[in-house]
Amino acid sequence: METILPKADPLKPKASSATRASAVGESTHAALKMDLNKIVQGVRLILEGVGEDASRPELLETPDRVARMYRELLYGTGVDAGAEITCTFNEENDDLVLVKDIAFSSVCEHHLVPFIGIAHVAYIPNQGKITGLSKLARVVELASRKLQVQERMTGQIADAIMRRLDPLGVIVVLEAEHFCMSIRGVRKAGTRTVTTAARGVLQDDKGARAEVMAFIQNK
Ligand SMILES: [Zn+2]
Repeated sequence: METILPKADPLKPKASSATRASAVGESTHAALKMDLNKIVQGVRLILEGVGEDASRPELLETPDRVARMYRELLYGTGVDAGAEITCTFNEENDDLVLVKDIAFSSVCEHHLVPFIGIAHVAYIPNQGKITGLSKLARVVELASRKLQVQERMTGQIADAIMRRLDPLGVIVVLEAEHFCMSIRGVRKAGTRTVTTAARGVLQDDKGARAEVMAFIQNK
């Protein structure tokens, strides 16, 4: 089975997923434990540090707003990326399942600026054990909503699926643009970083791996 989601524009998160993200961010997970006051104080210090007048009217609400934004962006802190793979189904066959172009946005832990892109997730079920396709997108979503580096995020998605579904193999590919590269430093806008994590037979069997990668790269 191969499922290809509509091509997503990473710059424009889907309304549905954005709505769901903020709903979850408001109510569950680490968001509840976040100390918003500390974030507010920190943002105020940044404003003062750069030489701004933090008390000018246009900036008065900014620390609160930034704190709420980080709560939403980082609500997956401390949460297992596989936490929402709670139900599985049994299917007759063990053919490849591939979900392409899952849009995500995460936050680089070195600079606290976003990196945004798309994820492709493929796995080969073990004895027909599968999960809902939307759950794969939820794994990507949860893995993205914490301070990250792209390489670790790729591995966390693969490991979460291995743990929860025990499939024969998994491949995860992430393609992302890092704002810390495009707006500062080398300032190469549009540069995309591609990372891969393979597990199980898709790590060991080079032929199978190449076949799945060809599917993923076939636009
Ligand atoms: Zn960075």
